[in-house]
Amino acid sequence: MSGDCLFCRIAEKKIPAKIVHEDADVVAFEDVNPQAPVHILVIPRRHIASLADAGEGDAALLAKLVGVFNKLARERGVAGSGYRLVSNIGRDAQQSVPHLHLHLLGGRPFNWPPG
Ligand code: AMP
Repeated sequence: MSGDCLFCRIAEKKIPAKIVHEDADVVAFEDVNPQAPVHILVIPRRHIASLADAGEGDAALLAKLVGVFNKLARERGVAGSGYRLVSNIGRDAQQSVPHLHLHLLGGRPFNWPPG
């Protein structure tokens, strides 16, 4: 846990969020500023600053994150229509919260390339 990390605090339920999944390793909650009809953030409980800080030792955790991600896509009814996984890393990608998170975006068409 990183004491001043927003997403660590959400995972510990010290800051309220609409949690849609939680288990021993992974928490998922609704993005407070949704960019699509479905916009969920999937995070590890353990503080990892970004995907750039995940190593080979995190392989099982990363697989679990993706498993929860896909389960939520199915539950939200976007598995058939398609959905997007975004994980911003660093300044140029405009990562604003330095705790690894996967954005699950769905429920509308998305452009490519992204802006
Ligand atoms: P990023 O810019 O990729 O780091 O994404 C951070 C995301 O966290 C943004 O989409 C924000 O809307 C979202 N966010 C920030 N604060 C909260 C919060 N308290 N609860 C839920 N989502 C949040």
